[in-house]
Amino acid sequence: MHEFSIAMSIIEIAETEAKKASSNRISMMELDVGTMAGIEYYALDTALEMATKHTILENAKIVVNKLQARAICSDCNNEFDISSITDECPVCDGLFHEVIRGKELKIKSIVVESDN
Ligand SMILES: [Zn+2]
Repeated sequence: MHEFSIAMSIIEIAETEAKKASSNRISMMELDVGTMAGIEYYALDTALEMATKHTILENAKIVVNKLQARAICSDCNNEFDISSITDECPVCDGLFHEVIRGKELKIKSIVVESDN
């Protein structure tokens, strides 16, 4: 499962960040995941729940921000929500557009707790 390997890399990053802060506790982590990042949100949630067991993220609150993908039409410059790369512009039915948001998959923030 693709989402499972993503969950594993997220845990790795979290562990590195905690180590940098000389802590072994993370209370919260926030992720930005675009609707066109190629991720199934449900699968990612499940993967995170499974993969974080017995890791530094086991008790952390993990928030996944779902970012609706947006595109700009190359013909009329209209900006619109897009769900697939083949979507047409709702104004001019143009097929060409540039995706300006929604392909991201990143860690927005990590809250590391200090040990004292
Ligand atoms: Zn258009």
